[in-house]
Amino acid sequence: MHTQSLLALTEALQQRRFSSTELTKHYLDRINNAKALNAFITIDAECALAAAARADKLLKNGEGKTFTGIPIAHKDIFCTEKMTTTCGSKMLTNFNAPYSATVVKRLEEQGAIVLGKTNMDEFAMGSANENSYFGPVKNPWDHTRVSGGSSGGSAAAVAADLVPFATGSDTGGSVRQPAAFCGISGLKPTYGLVSRFGMVAYASSLDQAGALAHSAEDLALILKAMAGFDELDSTSINQPVPDYLAALNKPLQSIRIGLPACFFHPDIDHDIQQAIHTAVTIFEQAGAKIVELDLTLQSLWVPCYYVIACAEASSNLSRYDGIRFGHRTSKAKTLQELITRSRTEGFGIEVKRRILTGAHLLSSGYFDDYYLQAQKVRRMIQEELQGVLAQVDVILGPTTPSCAFKLGEKIKNPTQHYLADIFTVAANLAGLPALSIPAGFSAGLPIGMQLIGSHFSEACLLNLAHYYQQCTNWHQTRPQECQKEPK
Ligand code: GLN
Repeated sequence: MHTQSLLALTEALQQRRFSSTELTKHYLDRINNAKALNAFITIDAECALAAAARADKLLKNGEGKTFTGIPIAHKDIFCTEKMTTTCGSKMLTNFNAPYSATVVKRLEEQGAIVLGKTNMDEFAMGSANENSYFGPVKNPWDHTRVSGGSSGGSAAAVAADLVPFATGSDTGGSVRQPAAFCGISGLKPTYGLVSRFGMVAYASSLDQAGALAHSAEDLALILKAMAGFDELDSTSINQPVPDYLAALNKPLQSIRIGLPACFFHPDIDHDIQQAIHTAVTIFEQAGAKIVELDLTLQSLWVPCYYVIACAEASSNLSRYDGIRFGHRTSKAKTLQELITRSRTEGFGIEVKRRILTGAHLLSSGYFDDYYLQAQKVRRMIQEELQGVLAQVDVILGPTTPSCAFKLGEKIKNPTQHYLADIFTVAANLAGLPALSIPAGFSAGLPIGMQLIGSHFSEACLLNLAHYYQQCTNWHQTRPQECQKEPK
């Protein structure tokens, strides 16, 4: 069952070829057999099976919606009324949200069944999923390697076929980078297209909810259900949501694809560059026009991103004081001590590093030189990208400069770690939609290809990705261990 596409699974359920209860049990068994990946923080089999039984009744009466009976998982950054929401942190280990995130509700309204919450870097800070309080997530293609971060649990779960799709969040690449490392497809929509209500905040001007699945076609179906205006999110856009699935299969003749020279720097893994060039040939043969580009500000993307992300994080995470939210120390005698100790005990090292960096950048005397400067640079980056996207329909390149690295390899060197985001952060700085799809392998490890488009061009990105996936089978290739049926 797990080898079928999301669309095929929804059809099979509607046609009653198997029941949601059978499907849910099947995925729960697979999750049970794949514990070594550490992809999940919470699994609620009982709740899932009860929901599956309800879904079966609806399906029997012909009352099924898009995802009725489909098992899914949420990144543990999305608040769920019925399960704890830890955000990968000791701080929130026992946090039961009083409400569910809009994304959670929308997928529930379409009938999806939540099997559990996936592991992630603490407060979504990381590019390897090694910063989780619940331990690292292993890459299903090679257990000695990272899954990517921060949505590493969701990516590993989809790649290993533990769920047909999962949600993620992307502040600087956290959907696309793990999707690339795990050989699946991941979409970060335009800022404001998908509600952030109930998604624990990291850096609010960059955070965006997204999804991870095997194919662009699956993502088109998921995006339709997730997107749309939400009055509970003040940055939500009030405009109609297109039918992304119906917009697939458009001819590529008039499409202009931009290739920025900086995406093909000699330091970038050779096999990755090769894979992207092969993909370019495929698009060219379909009639797309290739345009060489120059992005002059690329060296500023990562520094600008980390100044803004850390500044916003230090402000957002000030709410965790041991009083209103999360972990509270048992060792304090004064109020000051209560707050300090609760935060010292509750946060991990990377989160502390970013809070301190952010507080420093925002402090008087430094604000103008760093934060304000970064905002100006951000505007320049946005303008450059928008200027380029007036000449081309998409910017194409690698998602990451290398394939999944070894567990522990970059953990002691934060700067090295931050550079893993070199190609992904720009889309967040400019609020643009971006997609990563599998584009080949290097020494047995998946390669990710990134497509960035102008605001609200998701239909165009998905159409291109879908075309590519009809010409290739990288998105259908599975890690060896996943081909085994559960015992
Ligand atoms: N790796 C980036 C960071 O650590 C992006 C994380 C994200 O997108 N949530 O900030």
